[in-house]
Order: sequence, then structure tokens, then C-alpha cells
Amino acid sequence: MEDEAAERHSDALALDHLRTLIRIPTVSRLDESMIDWSQFDAFISTLALLYPRVHSAMSVDVIDGHALLLRWAGRSAGDESVLMAHYDVVAADDEAVWTHPPFAATVTGSGAEQIVWGRGTLDDKGALTAILEAVDRLLVAGFTPEHDVYLSFGHNEETAGSGAAELVAELERRGVHPRLVLDEGGAVIDHVFPGVTRPTAVVGVSEKGMANVTLTVERSGGHASTPPRMTATARLARALVRLEKRPFPASIPAPTLEMIRTIGSHSTPVLRFVFTRARVFRLPLLALFSRLSDETNAMIRTTAAVTQLRASDSANALAERAVAVVNTRIAIGSSVDATLRHIRRAVRDPLVVIEADAPSEPSPVSPSTGPIWQLLSNAVAAVHPRAIVSPYVMLGASDARHFTAISANVYRFTPFEMSAEERATLHAIDERMHVSTFLSGIRFYRTLIERL
Ligand SMILES: [Zn+2]
Repeated sequence: MEDEAAERHSDALALDHLRTLIRIPTVSRLDESMIDWSQFDAFISTLALLYPRVHSAMSVDVIDGHALLLRWAGRSAGDESVLMAHYDVVAADDEAVWTHPPFAATVTGSGAEQIVWGRGTLDDKGALTAILEAVDRLLVAGFTPEHDVYLSFGHNEETAGSGAAELVAELERRGVHPRLVLDEGGAVIDHVFPGVTRPTAVVGVSEKGMANVTLTVERSGGHASTPPRMTATARLARALVRLEKRPFPASIPAPTLEMIRTIGSHSTPVLRFVFTRARVFRLPLLALFSRLSDETNAMIRTTAAVTQLRASDSANALAERAVAVVNTRIAIGSSVDATLRHIRRAVRDPLVVIEADAPSEPSPVSPSTGPIWQLLSNAVAAVHPRAIVSPYVMLGASDARHFTAISANVYRFTPFEMSAEERATLHAIDERMHVSTFLSGIRFYRTLIERL
């Protein structure tokens, strides 16, 4: 009875802490001169106030201006683990259309329907707070980890991502080669596959690469009243149409095949027959995934999206330079080079100059068998006993990709149940989370850390 009362009390405190941290608008902006760094300073000093035990038990270093690296010394050397989260959030400039203001951390409902609203609840202050609550509870219980546990909290995940790169460089300097790195990514979700009624914990074992590819056409300018046969803009448009008509080759990467088999084995008998023989039914599955949804299409190939177009500044002058930026997301098994080759072949025009900007290769694939995977799966099972645990390839980019340089076991998983409706609020209006979800996240991290 006493234990229950104590847990209720610390759950209430945990929610208070989360709300306090949501209320600090640590908004990331691509234009760094627009960032209010005083909010980031406030966030760091508030963490010290809310978690005095954590701050005295762990060493705390500020990296790259505002990223945080905390180290909890274990009993024996080596085999370190890193738990990651980030505390910058995307902007919520459309504040008026939110049901509750984005930085008010309003709580509505009660019991299982109690919800905390605000930017950063799901992405990613919820996880950051859950990690700190778990560590704090373990400290109260007198726990010391077997091996060092690092907490790595980025400050610009949503934009530059330099914090994560610097955190990795710092760990490298210290000679740390973690046996486990866990960052945000997949979640516990429902209705992933047709015929599957159990919730599924999808754990990212890799992520697609990315490159912004610029297509540039230069021609002499002049007055728009006497245009040449093919203007720079027309040539660029032709190139883009050609690219659109030639999708990247499709294939099912190994972790995706495994996901289909793992989740599909819990489907209805007919679908189970197909899904568990995914390798045999590869061709029909490819055809299905190409057409089923934009998301399934992105799972089986490199994608290219024209995101920016630039040409003449005035309505009556020919463009001397027409530029398109194509955001490409590179499939596992492909590469930046192969992506550029495909685009050049599709465009087939030497006057269109094609270059890659800020490229990053697809991430190496972390194992979905073996002791570290088992450790993660067991922690998921302890909190979500009904959940199927499956690997998957993340379609977006995360800070975790930097950590593949120092660890072979990098996983992307947020231990929160998210409905499709809640997932749709990520980076959008009305971001929110069930309080029970947040509390189960604390239990997940606690269970995991106890076994590290
Ligand atoms: Zn995030």
C-alpha cells in the first residue's frame, strides 16, 4: 500500500516536471540567428533544479554550446550504454489554431484519458523527462549500474544536428564504444499490418540516407519578349519531368523483409501465409508496397522530392540560372553515388549540372538478434506484454546516425504508445500525449537501465 502511494506521488511529480520543461520554448530554427538561446540556458538550469540527485550523482558536461552529456559511473569498465533524447522542438507559430496553447502544458481528462498537451510532449521532451525520472528513481533505490550509462541530450536535432556529431566526437575522445545506443524513432503502434490486432513495438535498426541534390541550368539572360527556343527554366522543367517519370529501383531491404515476417506472422491465416514467405512473394509484395501508400513506397526505394525551385527575380526577365533542389532519401543498400548516377541517367542532359549537397549515406544495420536486441525486447515486453517487437528501417533521419561511427548496436525507439492520430501531431498542431503513456515510458527506461 505504502509503495503504491509512493509511486502515485512520484508519478504526479514526474508529470509536473514534464510540464515545467514543456513550458520552456526551446524552439529550433534553421536560421540560427532566430534562435532564442536564453530559453536553452533556462532549460539546462531548470534540469539542474528539477533533478538535483541526478546532477550530483552524474558528471554533467555541456558540449557544442547547449548539448548535454551526463555520465553515470558503473561498477566495471567498458560496455557503456548511451540513452539519447533531444530537447529542441520545432516551432509552433500557428499558436492560434492549437486547441490548447503549445507551451502551456495543459492537462485535460482523468484516469486513462488524462492527456498532456504541448509541443515536445512526443518529440522529444517526453522521452528526455522519462529517462531522467527513471535514473532519479533508481538513485533513490540506491542502484548503481554495472557499466557506465551516458545520457546524451541534443539541442539541435530538428535542424543542424551538430550537437549529436559533437557528442559522438566527445565520446570518441573518451574512448567510449557503447554496446548499446538508444535514440528516439519507432514507437508502440496499433494496426501496423492488415489482420494484426496486437500492438507492435517497431524498433529502428537503420535509417535511410539523405542528400539535397541541386539541378542547375545556366543560360544567358535577356528580355522575356524574345526568348530562345529553350530557356533555362524550360530545360530545368524537362529534367524534373524526366526524373519524375523514372522512379528509383525497388527492393525490399533485409530488415524490412524481417519486419514483414515478424509482424505478418500475427496476421490472419491467408495473409500470414504470404507475409511469412516474404522472400518468395517478393515481387507481388514490391508491387503492393509501390501502390499501397506513400509510406510503403518509401520503404522499398530511394525517393526524390523537388522541394525548392529558383529562377528569375522579375516577371519579364529570362532566368540566367534556374535551380531545383531535390531532397532525396536513400534506400538501405544504395548510396549517394548510386542516387546521383540514377538522376543523371534520368535527366540525360549535360547542360543540367547535378550536385549533391550535405549528403549522408544510409546507416549500417544494427542486429535484430543477439544479446543487445534481446535486452531491448525484454524491456519492451516488461512494460508492453502484448506487443510484438519488430525491427524496421526509419524513413526519416535522426541524430542516432552519427552514433553508428562508435557503436554497432544503435537503435531508434521511443517507448511510447502512439495512436495514428497522436503520431499525426508530430511536427504539427495539437501535439499531445496520454499521461499513462509517459508513465509507462519511465517504467521502460527504468527496466532497461537496471539490466545495462
Ligand atoms: Zn525528435
